[in-house]
Amino acid sequence: MPQTALEDILRTKFESLGGYIHLDCQYLGCSQSGNSVNVTVQHRGERVTIAATYLVGADGHHSTVRTSLSIPFDGDVYPYSFIVAEVTVVEWPFGLNAAQIYTSLDGLLICMPEPGKHRFRLIANVRDAPQLPSLELWRCIIARRAPGHACFEIANMHCSNRFRIHHRIARRYRAGRIFLAGDAAHVQSPATGQGMNLGIQDATILARIIGDAIYHGRNSEHDLDEYQRICQPRAQKVFGLTHRITLGMTLTNPVLCWVRNMVMMATNSLPMVRRKITRVISQLDL
Ligand SMILES: Cc1cc2nc3c(=O)[nH]c(=O)nc-3n(C[C@H](O)[C@H](O)[C@H](O)COP(=O)(O)OP(=O)(O)OC[C@H]3O[C@@H](n4cnc5c(N)ncnc54)[C@H](O)[C@@H]3O)c2cc1C
Repeated sequence: MPQTALEDILRTKFESLGGYIHLDCQYLGCSQSGNSVNVTVQHRGERVTIAATYLVGADGHHSTVRTSLSIPFDGDVYPYSFIVAEVTVVEWPFGLNAAQIYTSLDGLLICMPEPGKHRFRLIANVRDAPQLPSLELWRCIIARRAPGHACFEIANMHCSNRFRIHHRIARRYRAGRIFLAGDAAHVQSPATGQGMNLGIQDATILARIIGDAIYHGRNSEHDLDEYQRICQPRAQKVFGLTHRITLGMTLTNPVLCWVRNMVMMATNSLPMVRRKITRVISQLDL
């Protein structure tokens, strides 16, 4: 299911429970006193201060909340850039719902279909990618990385961008009454499609902990730290796997590529291993 469709489902559910999302509101900063957080936001051109019991910074990779708390974001950036595009594919040689990962000496190419359409999301690693990768560049990459029988044509490009991938985890998930969740707390390679899933797990666990604090008075330092005790090791576990898969998929040494392909073929032919991988990737094993 595409992330946009899932976001619509979550938004509808949230609103049906009485929540309201202010899309025109920008977080500027906050200060903490004994039992509240004073949050300053820019709302329709005006600065407004909100007194809240807790604040959750779920404001993404470049989180202003995390930065304003000076919480270190430990990790690194991969040495190559990635490019991503939404394209219309013609002559797709597989089922229209079948994603494909191509690994070659030239690099990685991932093709993810939007179910039921001829529209695909393509991701590739490129050492020195231009900021706005052209249709020609994508055609070149497909010709080099998708072998003969699995090759395909693209007709239209709807958007195309370059991005760098970081793998980082916040050293602390909480400062007083302020929590970090989602990409604000951890970012990783999209190679295994785990980022949003981890963020949803953060939200589920944090909702329970904040609910317990507000409604049952379980608000000691130890109670609130349960969030980091549960969620940070989960993120570290997923990161270890994603990092190894990202390195494996972007190998350029011919011998190592051959070993990787042999291992992938062997594991793919064992139903037990395939089931295990499915459980790990879907985070049912966390
Ligand atoms: C190419 C690519 C493919 C991916 N594929 C997958 C996948 O298949 N599966 C998966 O699980 N994950 C995937 N991910 C990861 C996933 O997209 C992210 O982990 C997820 O979007 C993080 O959600 P988030 O809400 O924490 O942060 P974001 O999606 O970054 O949302 C943060 C929000 O905060 C807002 N914001 C920022 N600053 C402020 C401020 N000062 N005031 C108010 N609002 C602010 C932003 O506007 C934004 O709306 C992929 C990522 C990439 C780059």
